[in-house]
Amino acid sequence: MLLWQSRVRMIVALVAGGAEFILQQHRILQGNALYLLEGVCGYIAVVTAVALFVQKTGRAPNWSVAVTVVADILFIFGSTLVSSPPSYYDRILIFSFLVLHLTETYFGPDQAAFAAGLVVTGYLYTVHVMIGRGARLLWSEELWSVGVFALAAAVFVLQYGSFRKRLNRIVDLFERVEEGDFTEEYDTSADGRPDAVTLVGRVYNRVRVQLMEMVQTDPLTNCMNRRGFEQALAREMARSSRAGSELSLLALDLDHFKAINDSRGHVAGDAVLREAGRLLMQTARAGDIVARTGGEEFSILLPDTPGNGAFHFANRLCDTFREHVFHVNNKEIRLTISIGVVSTDGDRPLAAERGKNLAEEMRVRADEALYAAKRTGRDRARAWSEAVSMRSGEMPKVMAELLREGKE
Ligand code: GH3
Ligand code: MG
Ligand code: MG
Repeated sequence: MLLWQSRVRMIVALVAGGAEFILQQHRILQGNALYLLEGVCGYIAVVTAVALFVQKTGRAPNWSVAVTVVADILFIFGSTLVSSPPSYYDRILIFSFLVLHLTETYFGPDQAAFAAGLVVTGYLYTVHVMIGRGARLLWSEELWSVGVFALAAAVFVLQYGSFRKRLNRIVDLFERVEEGDFTEEYDTSADGRPDAVTLVGRVYNRVRVQLMEMVQTDPLTNCMNRRGFEQALAREMARSSRAGSELSLLALDLDHFKAINDSRGHVAGDAVLREAGRLLMQTARAGDIVARTGGEEFSILLPDTPGNGAFHFANRLCDTFREHVFHVNNKEIRLTISIGVVSTDGDRPLAAERGKNLAEEMRVRADEALYAAKRTGRDRARAWSEAVSMRSGEMPKVMAELLREGKE
């Protein structure tokens, strides 16, 4: 931004200097052409030096903005002082307002307030010096001009500051959406008087809801879809590790679902899937995330829930399905489910996996536990443990355990 502006600044300085020079030659403006030339060269030298620094380091620290703003204001003061009689000095205030506007727009209220303070101080000092030198200036008139400038600057900086702040909030919301986080909406109640930013905020809120449904919802069951779930899992994992809270994940698969499809047809199978989704969402708590992550596979994310709570919940789900009667085409269908449970707590198994993708590791473990639940007879929940892992390198022991449990 500073780089781009430095080019504009040089052009403006050359054009303004040239115009002043021509006006001086025609005696429309007074003044010394040599001073003017020095002023233009000095200004361009400072702007170029800052631009080179920014280009070389690739960053624009606050002081570089401050130096540029000071150079702008000095240029305005200098060029006005050499070309105008004292009675026209208030042109300085008018030109400075332009600098104030650009500073506020591109660098924010702090830098703009700094510029305004500099202009007021510089102007009062100039008037003081010129009156001391016998210029015909009236303190009362000059104070009045400075007062009007200060008031206009204060209103501008405050109002535009709030404008920028709210605009940045909307940019932040859009960036969250880019990462798949639709959770936050724009709070219009914080806007004193509704303006263009408020309107954009309202539109964002409407689009947010529609987008969220379109992008993250499974059309068959109305649960979250796989994409939404993966984003929610990554987000909740990060939140739980920040807050130091526990998080559990359930991988769920309908038992012998193929048989329903084969005996009643695909349409009946779809109706059962719809009803299963509804049942899951009804049983889950408000903060839980229920998703259909595969054909007849669901995942449930339980934020702030330790392993034992999740296992208890999983068993309750198994009971609910076992007792539920699905009605499809006036026929009754019974269905059970198997669930794998994994949690971030206990011996913090995941802590050792820090280097890996934790969300991915949670999913793999939930699947391993689900596989164990299937192998040991279905219609049950299994919590993940080393023994359940397919990758533990202790397969013979694991298989023996699974087989023994299956027989029981
Ligand atoms: P298991 O107890 O081992 O899970 O047995 P299963 O028959 O449920 O397991 P499997 O994974 O072999 O079969 C899943 C079936 O789910 C296969 C497929 O026909 C069916 N299915 C997957 N997606 C859909 C869908 O969207 N609609 C319908 N109607 N059926 C689906
Ligand atoms: Mg199945
Ligand atoms: Mg399956």
